[in-house]
Amino acid sequence: MHFDPVLSKLLDGLSFQDLDNSDDIVFALNADLEITYVNQGWVRFAERNGGGVERWSVGSRFMDAIPMILRPFYLENFAKVLAESRPWEHQYECSSPALYRRFHMLSYPLGDAERILVVNSLVQEQPHTEILYEPNEGLYRNRDGLITQCCHCRRVRRNGSNQQWDMVPSWVAVIPPNTSHGLCYPCISYFYSSSTNTDRGFPETFNTYEIG
Ligand SMILES: [Zn+2]
Repeated sequence: MHFDPVLSKLLDGLSFQDLDNSDDIVFALNADLEITYVNQGWVRFAERNGGGVERWSVGSRFMDAIPMILRPFYLENFAKVLAESRPWEHQYECSSPALYRRFHMLSYPLGDAERILVVNSLVQEQPHTEILYEPNEGLYRNRDGLITQCCHCRRVRRNGSNQQWDMVPSWVAVIPPNTSHGLCYPCISYFYSSSTNTDRGFPETFNTYEIG
């Protein structure tokens, strides 16, 4: 078990043990957005999915684990969580080659901007229901030799089309060489759209991603 004494002190009635045993994927950040704690749910998820674990280990910087194109979004929102001392919620997709997965992420400020507790709950998990495509270089690699993959859902853009993004499972498993990252239209509009209000007692989400 990892132990973060600062986090433990700030939990205020919530059992550190319960947090650690939760099936939710939980981690904590300090004000510099360094990872100070990951729970057993996180460890089990990492073991099931392999790869990239070291990027999310205690002592790593959260932003180093996030695709470049999403960093302004998370930076701005975590800054608001700390500055305004209120929670922020967000949904994201984290699919595997075999499964479509969507998570709800709730970030709580703790103490005097001492920690952000980030709880990721699985909302939906099912085998992909959409059409799956083979890794066809001719269909997806553009004339500059690049494949564009959505850094959020991992779909890849069809050559010559801004609208058509396809799920190619073998490129989710292994990112092909010379891949650039972008955001597909469904992800921009659904996951990173302008602010919306919730009626569940949480503040409005700070969705601030702007299309360049
Ligand atoms: Zn996408």
